[in-house]
Amino acid sequence: MKIGIIGTGYVGLPTGVGLAELGNEVICIDREPSKIEALQSGKLTIYEDGLEDLFKKNVASGNIRFTTSMKEGVENADLVIIAVGTPPHPVTKEADMKYIHAAATELAEHLQGYTVIATKSTVPVGTGDDVEGLIRKKNPTADFDVVSLPEFLREGFAVHDFFSPDRVVVGANSERAKNVLKELYKPFEGKTKMLFVKRRSSETIKYASNAFLAIKIHYINEMADFCEKAGADVYEVAQGMGLDSRIGNKFLNPGPGYGGSCFPKDTNAMAYMGRTNGVNLSLIETAIAGNDKRKESMAARVLNAIDNNLHARIAVLGLAFKGGTDDCRESPAMQIVGALLNSGADNICVYDPKAMENARKLAGDKLVYADDVYEALKDAEVLVILTEWEDFRHLDLNKVKSLMKKANVVDLRNMLNPAEVMKIGFAYQRIGGC
Ligand code: NAD
Repeated sequence: MKIGIIGTGYVGLPTGVGLAELGNEVICIDREPSKIEALQSGKLTIYEDGLEDLFKKNVASGNIRFTTSMKEGVENADLVIIAVGTPPHPVTKEADMKYIHAAATELAEHLQGYTVIATKSTVPVGTGDDVEGLIRKKNPTADFDVVSLPEFLREGFAVHDFFSPDRVVVGANSERAKNVLKELYKPFEGKTKMLFVKRRSSETIKYASNAFLAIKIHYINEMADFCEKAGADVYEVAQGMGLDSRIGNKFLNPGPGYGGSCFPKDTNAMAYMGRTNGVNLSLIETAIAGNDKRKESMAARVLNAIDNNLHARIAVLGLAFKGGTDDCRESPAMQIVGALLNSGADNICVYDPKAMENARKLAGDKLVYADDVYEALKDAEVLVILTEWEDFRHLDLNKVKSLMKKANVVDLRNMLNPAEVMKIGFAYQRIGGC
């Protein structure tokens, strides 16, 4: 199949590479020339586990190409996938649709023959109607259908999730479009459940899923706070809960709050849609407010561990919003570091295996950037773990202790073994009791 993909970000690029690997002819389009130049010269523009080898293989075979030209990517395509950003509006927090609307308008004039336009970006209910209207207005004679094809990949596992999705949801109002999508997902037949629903249901499924997961995280975080006060261990509690198949054992890991480019923006967008539809989505509103407050309380824990000495060196390990990615958008780690800076902490040294460049773009020269884990720890009065990179689990704790000014750890990802850390003589705090 000939496929044009608009947007080469964390969704568009792994999707493009995956579809190319399945034997499709893929052209990825991005409006940022620097990204396209890098991709054309064989350089990946994001970090995703396992993506590089597949990318190189498919570039070499010619199955995937990159361009800034909408014409080149869209004309002759059987399928055009829209994977541009839908960031939160700075004031209302609703999903900002400017990139979607621009993409729909720009692609319209290049359509040739029957084309399915699939929206993979996370978009408010009714966007399919808007996209259809914009294309129709620009190109009244075009032969096309617009479908909703929400993306459920997890950053850090994007390649795995592309080839082994839990489900594929398609919101299509036409049989002809459904058949194109069935053809596209033929390699997944028998392995993955494919669900065909109304376009508006499909758009809602994505938000409803992300909001549910965000609430689940917020719930276990509140249980963690309770366990700390009540002398229980949140892991034992989570294990006991998770064995109930109605609850399930996923997303019951306590931490510093949810973050990333999806949950915060999607919960806010869903809450906004609730308000504009006159529906009280109080669970989602509560999770949003509680999750925002959590970052402040986590920063307060760190300051407490250094007796509120704002000039003490704080060593931070982890800046990405989770392990396996370089993405710092709405990262709890960056927000906690930001709260520390706002409180007046002026001696923060940070390290992340993949996200240093993105963190630097956000925090500039307010932080000291270390070249490796152990450099970050020199003379620190507290070590704060903020992202669950596997490497942090295997720190040489004796070396850590010898480098630090005080043996003091605030582990907000519960990466370390409490008994081991305390045996070596660290003061140790984690989430949800030991
Ligand atoms: P991103 O910001 O990483 O990438 C978007 C890309 O689109 C950018 O490279 C930008 O230059 C390009 N772009 C914008 N307008 C364009 C236009 N008119 N023509 C060509 N290129 C254009 O965003 P992302 O993280 O890949 O997310 C994309 C969408 O997918 C969002 O709606 C997001 O909510 C959704 N989503 C993201 C994830 C995730 O894990 N990141 C998961 C599921 C769904």
